[in-house]
Amino acid sequence: MKEETFQSTYTQEDVQFETPLRPCSLQDFIGQADVKNQLHILIDAAKQRGEGLGHCLFSGPPGLGKTTLANILSSAMGSNIVVTSGPAIEKAGDLAGILTKLQDGDFLFIDELHRLSRPIEEYLYPAIEDFVLDLMIDTGPNARSVQVKLNRFTLVGATTRLGLLTSALRSRFALTCRLDYYQPKELKTVVFRTAKLLNVDIDDEAALAIAERARGTPRVVNHLVRWVRDYWQTRASGKIDKEIVQKALSLLHIDSRGLDEMDRKILEVMINHYEGGPVGIKTLAVAVGEVADTIEEVHEPYLIKEGLIQRTSKGRVVTTSGFQHMGVKSL
Ligand code: ADP
Repeated sequence: MKEETFQSTYTQEDVQFETPLRPCSLQDFIGQADVKNQLHILIDAAKQRGEGLGHCLFSGPPGLGKTTLANILSSAMGSNIVVTSGPAIEKAGDLAGILTKLQDGDFLFIDELHRLSRPIEEYLYPAIEDFVLDLMIDTGPNARSVQVKLNRFTLVGATTRLGLLTSALRSRFALTCRLDYYQPKELKTVVFRTAKLLNVDIDDEAALAIAERARGTPRVVNHLVRWVRDYWQTRASGKIDKEIVQKALSLLHIDSRGLDEMDRKILEVMINHYEGGPVGIKTLAVAVGEVADTIEEVHEPYLIKEGLIQRTSKGRVVTTSGFQHMGVKSL
């Protein structure tokens, strides 16, 4: 099995920086009111019945709080959480190793659930439905299956690509919550929260300026606040104001709508090389030098949300507003 824990896409440094910034309770978790209401009900009902929590699935772009919510659920139930990810579970034995170690009431968080292989997914079904595992012993004519009883656990799955999950797997979750991009007003609250935890003094306008450029994503807020703090520490003094934020973020090439260099490169290539599209994802990935999955999971959802590109059956196309943003008249 590959490294047992954490998203393969983040470095250890990211994890060390993020962990202290994670909200620890639903009260502390900003925004996503509908999701929080649903989770409150699920937790209260499970506690009243004295039962474990039903399995939950969180979907949405990276950095919106899926891992944070999984941790909040386990601590609300006073339970331990074991963290792994779809690509880390390569063989049935890897999964069996994890499941058989879970204690009664434990939480199992599987990030990037859509990357779980199909055989492993099928192996998971009896575990989450009946808390049993069918283990194959021996090979060839001597092969036989033995049923192992598991402790009752709660599975929390997270995915950036809900559409790639089979309906069989999706239907096995008691609750499926979709996390949406945050509004600038909500992100402003995240900015103040992070600034306080990092001991940074920031004014109202500056907080909004960061929130508006954070791609609707709390994780991006955290990174921008840290960057602005570093800039301020070495190049400025006094309270952090809007001017300091703008200077600091211009060094990262983040524009007024929060687009980074890769977002703009995608728009630029689509406009200059393909007359605004339609362009297929693989062609686009080669043209901009980025992995297709990253374009689909990180850049494209934000460009679509901002109304700068559209997905059509023939491929991606730049919208009129996308042309305008890049300072080009529609072709
Ligand atoms: P995901 O699992 O969806 O990629 P995470 O749960 O790891 O995202 O969130 C990344 C970081 O963003 C967390 O460490 C936390 O600091 C911050 N964060 C996410 N959601 C919220 C929220 N609703 N309120 C405050 N901070 C948040």
